[in-house]
Amino acid sequence: MHEDIKAVLITEEQIKQRVQEMGEQLSKEYEGKRVIIICLLKGAAYFACDLSRAMSIPVRMEFMVASSYGNSTSTSGSVAVRLDVADDIAGMHVLLVDDIIDTGLTFAKVKALLETKKPASVKTIAMCDKEERRKNGMHADYVGFTIPDEFVVGYGLDYAGDYRNLPFIGVLKPVVYART
Ligand code: 5GP
Ligand code: MG
Ligand code: MG
Repeated sequence: MHEDIKAVLITEEQIKQRVQEMGEQLSKEYEGKRVIIICLLKGAAYFACDLSRAMSIPVRMEFMVASSYGNSTSTSGSVAVRLDVADDIAGMHVLLVDDIIDTGLTFAKVKALLETKKPASVKTIAMCDKEERRKNGMHADYVGFTIPDEFVVGYGLDYAGDYRNLPFIGVLKPVVYART
């Protein structure tokens, strides 16, 4: 446990087990298909790398940067793509991976952009899902954990750039926000 963390929501062990399950499920569902994981930097980096290693079928990996947050704890409402995929994804089955789905704006925007590149399919995967916060009816096709409406950090999730490398997902102490 870290001194800035109020409570651990999902333990390292729970994350490992769930990622393994998801990897096995995806391997069955995508067997024989050309799969590319598109990881949304930076938050999904840890999850996407672990998920790809939990898969027993060949997968490619690509990266994009889409941001709306800045240093605050709620979305700014508009999502900008700052780094696009370099590879040609035409005809490929895309797994778009993010750390968390909150309002749903990030997945909606990035999925629409990827669909213009003529992939065979695009499915969305989020480690965490804050269902109650959704603004647009967007859903993730695969979800690691459904969580309550609290600002979480760890396993890739940051607050102002910090806490990404915590091996668990936890809730920050309010005093941490008060500092900035
Ligand atoms: P959405 O576009 O669905 O509102 O937000 C998705 C993005 O918001 C995530 O990729 C993440 O960067 C950020 N986000 C949403 N909720 C949280 C949270 O509880 N903790 C952290 N660290 N980031 C969050
Ligand atoms: Mg993000
Ligand atoms: Mg962030």
